[in-house]
Amino acid sequence: METFWQNNSCNPFGDRSTPCEVGNMISYAVNVSAAAEIAATIHFARTHNVRFVVRNTGHDFNGRSTGAGGLAVWTHHLKSLEIIQNIEMKGDPDKGEQSYQGPALKMGSGVQGVEAEHFAADAGLVVVGGWCPSVGIAGGFTQGGGHSPLGSQFGMGADQTLEFQVVTANGSVVTASPQENSDLYWALSGGGPGTYGIVTSVTVRAYPNMPVGGAFVSITNDLSLPNASTVLENYWATIQTWHTLLPNLTSTGIGATFSYNNSLFYLIPLTAYNKTSKDVRAALKPWIDQMDTLGVNYSASFTDFPSYYSHWTTFALPGPVGAYWQGTSRLVPTDIFDDPTSLEKFIGVQRKLADQGVYAGATAVAPRKLTGFANAVLPAWRNTVSLFGLLTDWSDDPTRWEEMQEMQHYVDQELRPLLKSVTGGTAGDGNWARGSYLNEASGDDPAWKQEFFGENLQRLEEVKQRWDPDGLFWGLRLVGSEAREIRGQPTGIGNGRLCKAEK
Ligand SMILES: Cc1cc2nc3c(=O)[nH]c(=O)nc-3n(C[C@H](O)[C@H](O)[C@H](O)COP(=O)(O)OP(=O)(O)OC[C@H]3O[C@@H](n4cnc5c(N)ncnc54)[C@H](O)[C@@H]3O)c2cc1C
Repeated sequence: METFWQNNSCNPFGDRSTPCEVGNMISYAVNVSAAAEIAATIHFARTHNVRFVVRNTGHDFNGRSTGAGGLAVWTHHLKSLEIIQNIEMKGDPDKGEQSYQGPALKMGSGVQGVEAEHFAADAGLVVVGGWCPSVGIAGGFTQGGGHSPLGSQFGMGADQTLEFQVVTANGSVVTASPQENSDLYWALSGGGPGTYGIVTSVTVRAYPNMPVGGAFVSITNDLSLPNASTVLENYWATIQTWHTLLPNLTSTGIGATFSYNNSLFYLIPLTAYNKTSKDVRAALKPWIDQMDTLGVNYSASFTDFPSYYSHWTTFALPGPVGAYWQGTSRLVPTDIFDDPTSLEKFIGVQRKLADQGVYAGATAVAPRKLTGFANAVLPAWRNTVSLFGLLTDWSDDPTRWEEMQEMQHYVDQELRPLLKSVTGGTAGDGNWARGSYLNEASGDDPAWKQEFFGENLQRLEEVKQRWDPDGLFWGLRLVGSEAREIRGQPTGIGNGRLCKAEK
């Protein structure tokens, strides 16, 4: 779990004699293996008025799968996997929906990214998952939206859903699909995790496991050289050029993950499904040519993998361990890239922040609505070219806890507004093409409802009211969450009790 939400309790890097408090961790978890066990846990929590938590892998960046004094259903061991060779789902033409006929993967909600990709690959298929091999597909990833290296090609994780099995807040088991309980299906597909019901399995579209072209580019700047200022000028010129390529790259189905500061840039990797290294070289040529002309110190390698699975496992495994950064992020819309002045301003701010030790970390992805059924994915995603983050180092050293909290405050109070100012202002205010990814945005944005849910908010509130009128399912900054508050702990990281909010 993100270290910030553990409230520095039981820190394994701390002094052994320091008292270890449970703090914001849940008190009990039921390791469920069937829907009936989930229903029984709900019944127990309701009867005894116990704080209730839904927990899968615990990867959540916003602490939504933990909570002081909480009783969790732990869905991690719901590991069933089944290929459906040919599923047929009818779309409603009146809603502009297209039908789907093709292969699918049905998986239990404890299935993690690497398990899903591995199982699909054995059948010559691939599913839309994220970069992290241990994030669960059916939990926060799909219900929160889910961006993927395949996102420019196939859309968001939430766009892939065909059917859910769900335990509802009153303990009944229902199917949610475009035809059955379609409002629940709509909300579970991108409207925020742990809010409308507990998913026990999801069925998603699967695609052929095609060859993938890729690239890995690094740039290093020696800033101790006498000509360091020229090195930096040339470097930032190439960073700007790289950004100008993103709209075209993503519109042809390519995804990329990259990060940079003043001394280094890493593109690791670029993912081009059903393309070759030759295609990738051609697409990156203007950038590489510029680096050659300016004498930038770079290295570039281009790859050809026989399948998405082999490409993905090469870069994704073994997966990250521990916390290593904290930050804020925002969706960067196409118009910022299309307008040279806006792009220059955007890069200019990063350049200033890089001088202060802030990293940029980004995922280039343009998940247009390529699949059939209506869902609750934040509409701003459809206008996005990259999910862009400003990151600062996180230290696990418990003696630096206060400093880390101050850093989080700096991220929220200084970096987030700055990022908004160069990516087109707050969502709403007549502009719904703006927004933030609710799974990866930072803390306490006062505009979180507009930023995370956009125009879908009102309908999501109606779905929440219908399926969970008592607000059993609760997580910070999710739909309906303002009905409760953590007493005495506005940030939610302490030992405070979860109570009905005082109006
Ligand atoms: C290292 C790392 C890399 C990441 N990479 C990506 C990426 O490439 N793309 C991307 O989109 N995101 C990525 N994420 C973010 C990730 O999608 C979120 O952290 C997500 O919330 C994790 O979901 P989980 O179910 O695995 O985790 P958990 O922390 O267990 O749960 C997250 C949320 O989902 C709810 N939930 C869990 N299971 C269920 C269920 N069965 N039914 C209903 N609600 C449930 C929980 O209550 C909670 O609100 C990454 C996160 C990390 C830590």
